[in-house]
Amino acid sequence: MIVTLTAGAPVSTVNAILAAASVAGLESRTFEDGHGGTVVGVAGTVPVAGLPGINAVLEKHRPYMLASREGRPHAPTVVKVGGVRIGGGRPVVIGGPCVIEGREALLDAAKAMKAAGADMLRGGAFKPRTSPYAFQGLGEEGLRYLAEAREVTGLPVVTEAMEPDHIDLVTRYADMIQIGARNMANFPLLRRAGQANKPVLLKRGFSATIEEWLMSAEYILAHGNPDVVLCERGIRGFDAATRFTLDLTAVPLVKELSHLPIIVDPSHGTGRRSLVARMALAGLAAGADGLIIEAHPEPDSARCDSSQTITPAELTTIVESGRVLYATLLAVSHEQVHDREPATLIHQA
Ligand code: PEP
Ligand code: MN
Repeated sequence: MIVTLTAGAPVSTVNAILAAASVAGLESRTFEDGHGGTVVGVAGTVPVAGLPGINAVLEKHRPYMLASREGRPHAPTVVKVGGVRIGGGRPVVIGGPCVIEGREALLDAAKAMKAAGADMLRGGAFKPRTSPYAFQGLGEEGLRYLAEAREVTGLPVVTEAMEPDHIDLVTRYADMIQIGARNMANFPLLRRAGQANKPVLLKRGFSATIEEWLMSAEYILAHGNPDVVLCERGIRGFDAATRFTLDLTAVPLVKELSHLPIIVDPSHGTGRRSLVARMALAGLAAGADGLIIEAHPEPDSARCDSSQTITPAELTTIVESGRVLYATLLAVSHEQVHDREPATLIHQA
């Protein structure tokens, strides 16, 4: 059940609900409604009638009670990464190479991303490669270069952690922890990310349903980390013409179902550099809070995912067109579309 309390509800009410949940052997969590009130989520039902300060009680709700919009219907979460805000406003662009190739290469790429107008830098130090013989990344050495690139450019950095033991290491060097598609349902990893003090970028598994993806986000939230950004990066379709099928329907749907921000990865989502710009803009048109794009000063010589990697000049075009598109969307009350209740949207469909 989800119990929403009034802003001035006594602490005794929260404690009474938590105690009742504990006696019943049910998990419970408290979270903020985004407007000064507390919400209590209980994985089951306990009696609350007569307790002072209760605003609403929802007995039937989605299984991801912390990630669900039901507890925070009017307060989309804004995740702060360094000085960058993801969600609830101007879309952000994260650019950079698939893999960190070396110190000079990363510094060059980082400066090029900054000049292209990117808000954040990406780059993998631990790479989940399909082949065990492919370059697996520079590990901690790569993380050091990434931290240096942040110092040089001022861009906050995001990089992937593949194992629970990577979380502390990545947290030490980076501003945001990426959990990759292949690890979306790695529950020990999600638990550790939930205990970390850095925001998490949670990519959708390429065979995961939206509910499974939001349940993975729930793991991170339930273990104490409220700063989760979702990333749609393409799912497995039947057609090998593209590497994956970018499921842009997920963007407005996730906005209906969850208060968490969502960004789009048109690079992995298509696998083809010629398609990246249009799908990036399509992602923004669908309401994404940002983009993560693989870009490299020399895409043809990129050590990983070259075929989907674009140039800094192409990234500049996406950033500039993205700004124009965002201004246009605002003018047609984009925000109102986001704030509409799910039922209204379904009705209009
Ligand atoms: C990546 O972003 O570097 C990556 C490996 O993406 P995904 O986990 O979506 O395949
Ligand atoms: Mn890649």
